[in-house]
Amino acid sequence: MNPPPRFLADAMLIRLARWLRALGYDTACYPSWPDSALVALANREGRWLLTRDRALVRELRPDRVIAIESQRPLAQLTQVLEALTLPPPQLRFDRCLLCNGPLTDWLVGRPPPQYASHCAIARLRHCADCQRLLARSPRQAHERGTQASPAANKLLNPRSSSPQTAAMTSAYAAPVLT
Ligand SMILES: [Zn+2]
Repeated sequence: MNPPPRFLADAMLIRLARWLRALGYDTACYPSWPDSALVALANREGRWLLTRDRALVRELRPDRVIAIESQRPLAQLTQVLEALTLPPPQLRFDRCLLCNGPLTDWLVGRPPPQYASHCAIARLRHCADCQRLLARSPRQAHERGTQASPAANKLLNPRSSSPQTAAMTSAYAAPVLT
């Protein structure tokens, strides 16, 4: 089986990058880098460059590129999944939405920092790169009034909405995925 594709999103596609990370795909994003540096990195690391910049595609000719058409993140995500014939999307909670770092369980017995002290330890995931703690708690999401949009739920749960997936969608994805 082929390894999953890796991506590099340009500065216009940060929200798409977060969606791909939520699905477990390694998706780098360096908004301040010039186009030539992005193309060089994508070529060197075998990443699919995701961009809405037609001039970049035409002039720099990346090895692997998907020229994103829509301005809407969910439509962009659908385009990527279809272009590479990727399996139906599932939230995985193993990659930091904000920096692309790997997430691991917060160790039992290790007290959480003050700001996360109200979270159950079992629900905390820790990013090794940016050191953020992310929680997947349906109750917190409900209290904060953050729910994934109907469109997001439909995309992520095409057939049914299992309680577990729905909880992850609302708690983990909704705060930064819109
Ligand atoms: Zn992180």
